[in-house]
Amino acid sequence: MQEPHQLNVYKFGGASVKDAAAIRNLRHIVQQAVPGQLLIVVSAMGKTTNALEEIYHRAHSRLDYAPQLKALRDFHEGVAQELLNPAGAHPAHNEPLQALFAELENQLAALEPGDYDRQYDQVVSFGELLATRIVSQALAAQWLDCRPLVRTDHLWREGRLDWATTERNIRSVVPQLLQQGPVVTQGFLGGTSSGQTTTLGREGSDFTAAIFAHCLQARAVTIWKDVAGLLNADPKIFEDTVRYPEISYQETIEMAYYGASVIHPKTIKPLAVKRIPLLVKSFLDPTAEGTIIHDCRHDSLPPAFIRKAGQCLVSFESKDLTFISEENLEVIFGALAQVRLKIHLMQNSAISFSVCTDYSAYRLDRLLEMLYEQFTIHYNTGLELYTIKNYDAASIQRLTQGRDLLLEQRTRQTFQFVCRGAS
Ligand code: ASP
Ligand code: MG
Repeated sequence: MQEPHQLNVYKFGGASVKDAAAIRNLRHIVQQAVPGQLLIVVSAMGKTTNALEEIYHRAHSRLDYAPQLKALRDFHEGVAQELLNPAGAHPAHNEPLQALFAELENQLAALEPGDYDRQYDQVVSFGELLATRIVSQALAAQWLDCRPLVRTDHLWREGRLDWATTERNIRSVVPQLLQQGPVVTQGFLGGTSSGQTTTLGREGSDFTAAIFAHCLQARAVTIWKDVAGLLNADPKIFEDTVRYPEISYQETIEMAYYGASVIHPKTIKPLAVKRIPLLVKSFLDPTAEGTIIHDCRHDSLPPAFIRKAGQCLVSFESKDLTFISEENLEVIFGALAQVRLKIHLMQNSAISFSVCTDYSAYRLDRLLEMLYEQFTIHYNTGLELYTIKNYDAASIQRLTQGRDLLLEQRTRQTFQFVCRGAS
């Protein structure tokens, strides 16, 4: 029988498996893990998901993708070679890797026109399959295909979880494996009832770790990152960041919702409902404290700064200059949902309604097509959305200074504005 609270779930993102040295470091962290069972969730290596997106896009557009595919293959084979066969045995003998590349080549050769999102999942999922093969070999750990377990619907690229089936699947398979030793599985992937691969949304591996932890009542989840823990801002964008030694589930959910890239937004709830703590630690300094996300209260927190780039602001005016009514809004929301543009911020005035969303030329074109007869539509692209959570006057001043604001909004805790991008 499974001992409750014995299991730790570790999640390693792309940066922590970006080359052979990184995977050796991962191995060291795993060797130092507290005693007990260990489930390891791994993302695609480095920027592999982006590379696969490009290969997929080229293949789907009938452009040559051979050089990009070769680079991807050379990279993975090179890492595997360095880690596993330093004496020089050829990666051609690494059967699991060879089988995956053969399968990927077949998928790409067999792409059909249209059906973009479904076929995207079948191709882009190879990043995690390859990474977990290499990592499990490097750890001499068991490799688990998560796709038959993590059941989703058919919402390609953003599969929605069927919790009941997933929980049943995971509980019926994984505890026995864990008794035999560490298990390595893929983040980001799921599967439909008909056995097709889905993905859970970009950066979705954190969510995978939470799914397994929830279903198996883990003791804790640790996300290993290239930063010292959960910071109040992305240090690649902002100066003078501070680390939260501890932070509540609620605060973290809100930060993720506003686009902090620390943790995938869906990760927290499955952990919070089971009170499983989430640790965010640096794989560069594994013994440092990091951040613990759990049930706690805060009197005050330093302001958090969040930037979302690649935004567009779309404004709708009713053509007959009538007021923006509930009926009009219903049409606009319906169209946004249909083209799968998510609203990050919205504002309305008497005759116009504006939304800030991620910019996608394809989705925006479809939106305009659906709505141009009913509304006059203007849009600006190349924008950034900034959010300051727990703001004060100084933090607003610091961030808005010298920027050309197109829209701003504030609630008691949150100040947000849309402005033109830096470049
Ligand atoms: N590899 C996927 C991505 O880059 C999933 C993840 O990293 O969490 O989006
Ligand atoms: Mg990634």
